Amino acid sequence: MKISRPTLIQQDSAIVYQAKVESSLGSQPLWFSFPPQYRDLVSDRADGALVAMLLPAMILGEDVSIDGPLSERLYYNLSGRAQGLLTTLLPQLNRVKIHAEHLDPALRSPDTEGGVATGFSGGVDSFCALADHLPRYNPDVVPSRALTHLLYNNVGSHGSGGEGLFRDRYRTLENTAKDFGLPFVSINSNIGVFYEGFSFEKSHTLRNTAAALVLQRGISAFLYASAFDYSRIQAQPGCSMGSIDPMLLPLLGTETFEAIAVGSEYTRAEKISRLTTVPETYTTLDVCASSKQAGNCCQCAKCLWALVALEATGKLDKYSGQFNLDRYYQIRDRYLPEILLGKHLFSQELLNFAESQGYAFPAKARLLAKVPFYLEGRNLGRKIRDRLRKK
Ligand SMILES: [Zn+2]
Repeated sequence: MKISRPTLIQQDSAIVYQAKVESSLGSQPLWFSFPPQYRDLVSDRADGALVAMLLPAMILGEDVSIDGPLSERLYYNLSGRAQGLLTTLLPQLNRVKIHAEHLDPALRSPDTEGGVATGFSGGVDSFCALADHLPRYNPDVVPSRALTHLLYNNVGSHGSGGEGLFRDRYRTLENTAKDFGLPFVSINSNIGVFYEGFSFEKSHTLRNTAAALVLQRGISAFLYASAFDYSRIQAQPGCSMGSIDPMLLPLLGTETFEAIAVGSEYTRAEKISRLTTVPETYTTLDVCASSKQAGNCCQCAKCLWALVALEATGKLDKYSGQFNLDRYYQIRDRYLPEILLGKHLFSQELLNFAESQGYAFPAKARLLAKVPFYLEGRNLGRKIRDRLRKK
């Protein structure tokens, strides 16, 4: 794989970072596009392009030759340690060699203060990162970790909704970002075309960090809101990429750009409890895993889990604008027995949290959970009738 020296292209409505990528799949540009007012943040170094293309090169098993100034630190970490970690998680990947044309430490001019950025999606992890790193909610946050910028990326999280859903979701969150008093930088990209057939869940850390790293001219710390608490951090084949965030992110930095996993000190339920203290969540919280629409569907696993946790905190009514609570109460009777029977990921965490909050599961849910074969047997009656009919 050959990655050309990145260039910055000034357009009327955008500043575009672009590098040509040639591989056995053909030749096409990799690009990240930013609103023009953020020009001063955008770097033309090769670091962002290499973080973006490392995994695609390892999927193809192609050594990488990259032009343009590349951080010595990043080159060192991506050549060995990061690949060792990635192949442990994803054994189908191949180790590759990186040939850098210009190893050159990233330097910041002494009169430029680096900003602190995090992605803002309106989700649980992201709001928890804000609660910890905005002086408004955490007056004790140190200046070098106090947020100065919020990012919103189109690097694969919008699924089949693509660029349209990315724009819709950005507009939905824009006013809340304004309330926080921080610039909300939208980053569009075609990085997804290089990951076709490879799930976002197994690659999101690299995609999002690559986008932030392109801003290293003005951003010196990228706080990545990690989804997993420390008890779930592990490099095991088949795990989600989030399970290695605290190990992988420090390997993606340069001499002037730190990538840091934040939030692993909390369980997901503790995060939900924390964000109920942030009033902006009442009108913006978006936890949904459905990629077909902006807003919460109230029926996917992520929505239902969050709804139960919010109900346990006693603050669910505050979120009536964000969730269709009538729909939730209809589905709840089927969902709660599944939690009580431990049928879902993080069921036990939710049970522990509910208990810590003094929340009692409704009697109907507890009763249904005790009915033998309730879950597997929901279709049992029909099956028995079918069999009798055949006889
Ligand atoms: Zn949902």
